[in-house]
Amino acid sequence: MYVDEVFEKVKARDPDQPEFLQAVEEVFTSLGEFIEENPQYKKANILERVVEPDRMFIFRVPWETNDGEVMVNRGMRVEFNNAIGPYKGGLRFHPSVNLGIIKFLGFEQVFKNALTTLPLGGGKGGSDFDPKGKNDAEVMRFCQSFMNELYKYLGPNTDVPAGDIGVGAREIGFMFGQYKRLKNEFTGVFTGKGLNWGGSLIRPEATGYGAVYFADEMLKTRGDSLDGKVCLVSGSGNVAQFTVEKLSQLGAKAITLSDSSGFIHDPDGIDEEKLAFVMELKNVRRGRIKEYAEKFKVQYAAADPKLDHNPLWAVEADCAFPSATQNEINEVDAQNLVKGGVFVISEGANMPTAPEGANVFLKAKVLYGPGKAANAGGVSVSGLEMSQNSLRLSWSREEVDERLRGIMAAIHEQCMIYGYDEKDKYCDYVKGANVGGFKKVADAMLDQGLV
Ligand code: NDP
Repeated sequence: MYVDEVFEKVKARDPDQPEFLQAVEEVFTSLGEFIEENPQYKKANILERVVEPDRMFIFRVPWETNDGEVMVNRGMRVEFNNAIGPYKGGLRFHPSVNLGIIKFLGFEQVFKNALTTLPLGGGKGGSDFDPKGKNDAEVMRFCQSFMNELYKYLGPNTDVPAGDIGVGAREIGFMFGQYKRLKNEFTGVFTGKGLNWGGSLIRPEATGYGAVYFADEMLKTRGDSLDGKVCLVSGSGNVAQFTVEKLSQLGAKAITLSDSSGFIHDPDGIDEEKLAFVMELKNVRRGRIKEYAEKFKVQYAAADPKLDHNPLWAVEADCAFPSATQNEINEVDAQNLVKGGVFVISEGANMPTAPEGANVFLKAKVLYGPGKAANAGGVSVSGLEMSQNSLRLSWSREEVDERLRGIMAAIHEQCMIYGYDEKDKYCDYVKGANVGGFKKVADAMLDQGLV
């Protein structure tokens, strides 16, 4: 089959990029039948074109610690595809960052952005810099040095980055400030900006809120709702925090949170007051989630790399919102989730479920919303931030939230169109998201000729 031939070429070209290959294989597996039924894509060799980024930049980022030590990190930006709009996608600062990870995230972003109904191309970038343990002055010096190179490639109609792991309001502020200084231009060249300098209301909340709205849409297909549901959430950063907030607003109860050191289990639920503690702990003091267990006298389990599974996913519940990082749910975790009663999985993180885990969900016929669809709320409100910047207007909280809800419902609808099997009475959201996103990008590429 054409998809297999192209995948063999991708493997031969980038054998050392496992995360990228995983993301490509997942998309190609969904596309096989659709591509065979629509020969125009093979004729134009769209698959081989869509897996190769438009361009990639890799650069040195030198900076100085407070003690005068000279440090060197690697920065990169992958401008993956701009068939339907300017490159759009976050920056990740984490020691694990390498080109394969940024390419996987950029590839996912292309199809995710296509699903949002907004005119957004796909890109991603970042650095192996670790903001943990660095103070504000060091983070600022790093961000300024990073931007001294990256600014050349950005522009409000060219490439518009945002945050991701390790890049929040503080880092966006430092990078936007340096961009503005270098270009002498105040333009919407980042999203996730501060509210009083061009940011949008609801942008910080958008990814978490969107993942919850997507779960709600999935539940509606079974005549059910989030009201009264018990939910597992992993991570404790931006996405996890606002997932917990929206769950509690909709009458559900989040009972877990984690960071790379371990997880907490609070059977009474993480209410408003406890969430305020987490936000202060993680966003201001930048401490560890263990402190939650000490403060509220609940169970804490340290991460144990010797285990073949993550015990967080073995806690009994109805819904799961993985919101930390890629491949955090393996096959055993997926089996534990299903065994523990979980029948809704809405992915706030990007590719948190390994392929073997995804197969467990699809076989069990649970409601499984992959990140490409479920976490698209963040980039959607980024798109709305760009619109507001172009109009030089700010929309109210209610207006942005309502548009976000509408976009998540539209994404869900596209998944149903391409993923629902009448015979089975089951929606394969993975297939639906991949085919729906691919079709829009591929058709635009066909229209625009061989570029
Ligand atoms: P944050 O940096 O705010 O939080 C990340 C959280 O995940 C932290 O609790 C962190 O713990 C944990 N984590 C990160 N890496 C690992 C790891 N290797 N092992 C265990 N825990 C880990 O990031 P976000 O909340 O912004 O992003 C979370 C996920 O959501 C990512 O997959 C990201 O790509 C995705 N996403 C984010 C969007 C956004 O708008 N921010 C949009 C769409 C998707 P610790 O502090 O110990 O590292």
